[in-house]
Amino acid sequence: MSQSALVDAVLHGGASVQRRAIAKAITLLESTRADHRAQADELLTALLPHTGKAFRLGISGVPGVGKSTFIEVLGLYLIEQGHRVAVLTIDPSSTVSGGSILGDKTRMEKLSVHERAYIRPSPSSGTLGGVAEKTREAMLVCEAAGYDVVIVETVGVGQSETAVAGMTDMFVLMQLPNAGDDLQAIKKGVMELADLVVINKADLDADAARRAQAQIMSAMRLFGLVNHAMGHAQAQGPDKQWHPQVIQLSALHGKGVAEFWAAVTQYQALQGANGRLAARRQHQALAWMWERIDAGLKQAFRQHPQVRELLPQLTREVAEGRLAASTAARNLLAAQDRRA
Ligand code: GDP
Repeated sequence: MSQSALVDAVLHGGASVQRRAIAKAITLLESTRADHRAQADELLTALLPHTGKAFRLGISGVPGVGKSTFIEVLGLYLIEQGHRVAVLTIDPSSTVSGGSILGDKTRMEKLSVHERAYIRPSPSSGTLGGVAEKTREAMLVCEAAGYDVVIVETVGVGQSETAVAGMTDMFVLMQLPNAGDDLQAIKKGVMELADLVVINKADLDADAARRAQAQIMSAMRLFGLVNHAMGHAQAQGPDKQWHPQVIQLSALHGKGVAEFWAAVTQYQALQGANGRLAARRQHQALAWMWERIDAGLKQAFRQHPQVRELLPQLTREVAEGRLAASTAARNLLAAQDRRA
């Protein structure tokens, strides 16, 4: 298939043609071959004018919190409302061990076979930065194909949450009803990313769920993420803006899904009107560009012949305390400037 035929099939293909084209496009984007990369960049440039219209929702939580159960009911709910839903996954475990936390069981059985849904598992190798890059690009392909809600899911371990929050319009953190029992476990860094916290499995213990809701809310106040007067009240004052909320949910029984989506819609309306959503996307695109430049420079640096020659020895000297780290860095950077 030629490049322009592929672009055309992604944009306008009938159901099965389009689905195959999306898979093909994403496979091309995931390829590490240099000639593929050039084609992939061309493809992205052609698709880019057709992207950006979807709402990008990030969802994170520890294994077992109920992410796939929730995304399945949410996805089906959204399809019923007329949306088309794409689900992409970043599984940080696959980048380290080749194993997978999210992976092998059949997840989202009904959603995965629905013709208005597209589900793509995590790229199975590469650094987290690389995997995030592929996921971000896959998101653009799905948007160009007309999916108007893109969900990016990750597990609540490591840096993948930052990556997901950095590519989505809204970041949702899923918690268990006992989350509030151990406030130490509520990490400020992750809380800072959350636009919405969801206590799932509220059906298991209503009291615990209520307690968790109150405790997480007060932790967020403590961290200064919501001010004291806020609580549930949204949109006060002239500069109407979203403040993080904590809500309860039972994904297994499909309870709270409509309320969840109402909160998302409210977020979208407020942050859209006050310009924060557009600013967030702009900031993300530029941060992304620099992240990739940093990664590219570092890779080129490591491959530079002079650097490769010097690196083992200087690494040893720094490790053994015979050379200051900053001196070694300066020597290596200077080596890169010398002609091979
Ligand atoms: P994930 O690892 O975060 O994707 O979690 P799963 O969606 O696979 O759910 C893990 C387990 O929790 C499964 O056995 C689900 O049936 C169960 N589960 C998910 N949501 C709920 C819920 O709201 N209530 C209860 N009681 N169980 C749930």
